Amino acid sequence: MKLGFFGGTFDPIHMGHLVVAEEARVQLGLDEVLFVPAGRPWFKSEMPLTEAKHRLAMVEMAIASNPTFRPSKIEMCRPGPSYTVDTLESLHDDLGEDAQLYVVLGADALSELERWHRPRRILELATVVGVTRPSHRSVDLGRLSASLGSAGDRLRLLEGPLIEVSGTEIRRRVHEGISIRYLVPEAVEAYIEEHRLYQ
Ligand code: ATP
Repeated sequence: MKLGFFGGTFDPIHMGHLVVAEEARVQLGLDEVLFVPAGRPWFKSEMPLTEAKHRLAMVEMAIASNPTFRPSKIEMCRPGPSYTVDTLESLHDDLGEDAQLYVVLGADALSELERWHRPRRILELATVVGVTRPSHRSVDLGRLSASLGSAGDRLRLLEGPLIEVSGTEIRRRVHEGISIRYLVPEAVEAYIEEHRLYQ
């Protein structure tokens, strides 16, 4: 089984995330993509973050119509900082050798892989796949794999439709009363309004 792991703050989930996950699913032939909202992301520890229950609820409604997308609370339920390597270890223990794991992320995140916690172990457990983003259309995979001592095929870059949207932009728009229609799924837009998030 080929399993995609797509982690992030998802504050909130937006169309950019959905396009990335679908592109990875199709190009890599994934059986399933797990959407994993971070409990306390180590790299955003200084930033205010919306309560995990809201971020998870929005992920659940955004992916409900896609049977190959699944939400996971695995990082939200674990105390302390959310390290991808810990999540991969536990997926590996649960699923055994038969599961091939793929970490899916934006090319911006891929280019920072050396700064992650235990990147070499991540590359033993999974293939790490970046999807291009308008701000990051290329990544030097040769340099990255040399510096991490990984086999070349453990790092990949996929080209997808470039969607210029981010959680930051959605939060700014809501805060300023600008429409987010079509930038997030309708149900997510309604949820943000109902719970008065990002005001
Ligand atoms: P923020 O602006 O709050 O940092 P974000 O949307 O960039 O939000 P996350 O929610 O943490 O960040 O994103 C999860 C993953 O999705 C990351 O790997 C990020 O690189 C990727 N990602 C987010 N938006 C896009 C996009 N528009 N195109 C490609 N990848 C994206």
